Amino acid sequence: MIGLPRGVRLEPHRDEPLKHEIQGFPQPKQLWVPLVGCTVRSECLVEPGDWIEKGTPLSAPQFAAPVYAPAAGSIKEIRERTLAQKGPTTCVLLIPDWSYEFPERKKPAQGHQEELIAAAAAAGIVDEFDGLPLYKKLKRFRRRGVNLLLGNAIDDDPYVASAVAVLRENPQRVAEGLAAAAKACGAEEWRIAASSRKESKRIHEACPTVEPFPAGERYPARALLKRELYAKGNTTGFIGVQACAAFADFLEKAVPQTETVVTVNGDAVSTPYNVRVPVGTALRELLGFCGGEGTPGACFVGSSITGKQVSDLDTPVTLDTRCLVALKRAPRWKTFPCIGCGSCARACPRGIRPWAVCDQLSRENPDPLRMVNVQHCIACAACSVACPSGIDLVSQMLRAAEFKKGGE
Ligand code: SF4
Ligand code: SF4
Repeated sequence: MIGLPRGVRLEPHRDEPLKHEIQGFPQPKQLWVPLVGCTVRSECLVEPGDWIEKGTPLSAPQFAAPVYAPAAGSIKEIRERTLAQKGPTTCVLLIPDWSYEFPERKKPAQGHQEELIAAAAAAGIVDEFDGLPLYKKLKRFRRRGVNLLLGNAIDDDPYVASAVAVLRENPQRVAEGLAAAAKACGAEEWRIAASSRKESKRIHEACPTVEPFPAGERYPARALLKRELYAKGNTTGFIGVQACAAFADFLEKAVPQTETVVTVNGDAVSTPYNVRVPVGTALRELLGFCGGEGTPGACFVGSSITGKQVSDLDTPVTLDTRCLVALKRAPRWKTFPCIGCGSCARACPRGIRPWAVCDQLSRENPDPLRMVNVQHCIACAACSVACPSGIDLVSQMLRAAEFKKGGE
């Protein structure tokens, strides 16, 4: 295996690459704003019938980031809805009045680490790649002693271009947010990770103060880069470039994060775009804007590789809806027996041999000690993508990790 490239090469799915400009979106007539992280009703701060300003906090969850109103307007209804990405979630139906802007607010204190982390918490910022609140990530990075903080601009799913679009739109803003995040978690160095050398060069030309870091073009680029940097003695942390830009906005203008950039793509869409939308916009409206007609055969949110399939197109956009892939037909996989090619092991960034783990799982008395490293699986699905037999390895790995954890 030595000398062979790790990861898996993903083929582009369209002849015409997706444009990297970000489109504005027609203001929706209603928004179902998901109060992500709100576990009890008392954490919801509004009631039906309330009139609220743009940027009013809608929730104050104990263990998550607050959610802010993406527009002024009146609250019509509050109820629990089941979202494919999040499960049962309290959602607020807001009838927006788009004639109001964010009211002026005082800039947050940002002199030292604690103040910056408090600002990240108050801004309601969520990392678009993993859905985690920024303040929690910063605290965790500080605890772990991260020395190199990387702004994540790696769109390593061939359907997605939202991270690169955000970076190209305003690299300086991303750099400012990343520098502040590095200060907050005590990282000595910060860089922006992009997938190709060409993209890295382009970033550096657009913004000479930014030193990009080419991560490579094989999937999963981020995990492979992390592994490489770890071997060189670095402890790294990644923050999505959208979260970085939102942090810079909050520090400068006290504007909380209420919108996100989503790539809408797939063969059921006639004009794929990167679209900036307020949270709570229905996926159906996004599809309609990009020329998606009728009901597609299958829709995925998050990413086409690791994202979730959605059947209800009235599902609202959340801050980590990086991508919406609409396909004319639901993909059908044919599965064949393992041919022992080893591609899954070469693709894995965590040193797991998925074929060997599956072999153990199929035995009457599986031996957890022979499922080496399976507890470190990050569910990137590179093994499943690489497998020529079409075996759904990732779900087997997650099952094996549970099995090993249980010590059975
Ligand atoms: S899903 Fe798990 S086993 Fe498969 S490639 Fe990713 S980390 Fe490795
Ligand atoms: S990639 Fe698929 S066929 Fe090849 S060894 Fe792994 S499980 Fe077997």
